[in-house]
Amino acid sequence: MREFALIDRLKTRLASRRTDTRLGIGDDAALIAPAAGEELAITTDTLIAGRHFPSDTPAFDIGYKAIAVNLSDLAAMGADPAWVTLALAAPELDESWCDAFLDGACAAMGDDPIDIIGGDTTRGDLSITVTAIGRLPVGSALRRSGAQPGDVIAVTGTLGDAAHGLDCWDERAQANADETFCIERLARPRWRNGAALRALAHAAIDISDGLVADLGHVLAASGVGARVNVDALPVSPALAGCVDTAQMRACQLGGGDDYELCITLAPGDLERAQAALDCPLTVIGEVEAEAGLRLVDAAGRPFAWAGAAGWDHFPDA
Ligand SMILES: [Mg+2]
Repeated sequence: MREFALIDRLKTRLASRRTDTRLGIGDDAALIAPAAGEELAITTDTLIAGRHFPSDTPAFDIGYKAIAVNLSDLAAMGADPAWVTLALAAPELDESWCDAFLDGACAAMGDDPIDIIGGDTTRGDLSITVTAIGRLPVGSALRRSGAQPGDVIAVTGTLGDAAHGLDCWDERAQANADETFCIERLARPRWRNGAALRALAHAAIDISDGLVADLGHVLAASGVGARVNVDALPVSPALAGCVDTAQMRACQLGGGDDYELCITLAPGDLERAQAALDCPLTVIGEVEAEAGLRLVDAAGRPFAWAGAAGWDHFPDA
């Protein structure tokens, strides 16, 4: 398939859902018209085959994940997702592969009012770069630097599933139901409605590289520390059903790719935050003035964990 054919394909199947998209795919650039009083949150992520997803990942799941991880970053800022651009490098532009890829991208957007307003295709090793743009009222973004001593720390959903899904990936043809659940969490991560947490959360991040690493970014940016109860970390019945406790803790603390939100907020706002979300929100610890992350068990005893601190993209740097 020639490049213009893919762009045409995108254009015909993706009718605009937004009145503030002035011009979508088809000209030299798209035109968007944010309202007065709004700020735009902009994020870009590149996914490379063999590095960010297994090389034998189905096209649908690649399209899904490329969109979902970027919408997750917007969610972590508290932004309403509005626009996306999509750059695809692939060894060949096979028509059915491209259709499945776009099916996955559209599935990740769901019914939300999001427009794909631009795209580019080029021949090369398989990689996908998505830029996502979200809207939010001026000054309302959830930043990593807002955590305050006395805040509770809470996470959406469950932790560790995707990490175990990666462990099971090569044997997925023989996976049982619990393992399949974890594999699907890796392949098609849910992005959360972070916009619902505006004016409630003090700080937020999405967990892409593992709880310890990502919460560590929040603590460092905020100049605070934290105590986290490892026995309080939310676990899916599926993960609990297919690994022992030590593996489970390793997945929950160090495993990436869950794309759940980790937020800090005043204890008095917890109930409202839980009500604002369509998923569980679980308290796992509290922010403290003393720097550093202290892992403890339910009895308050220190929990020793020697795992790597998340995924380091440049381990030798
Ligand atoms: Mg992020």
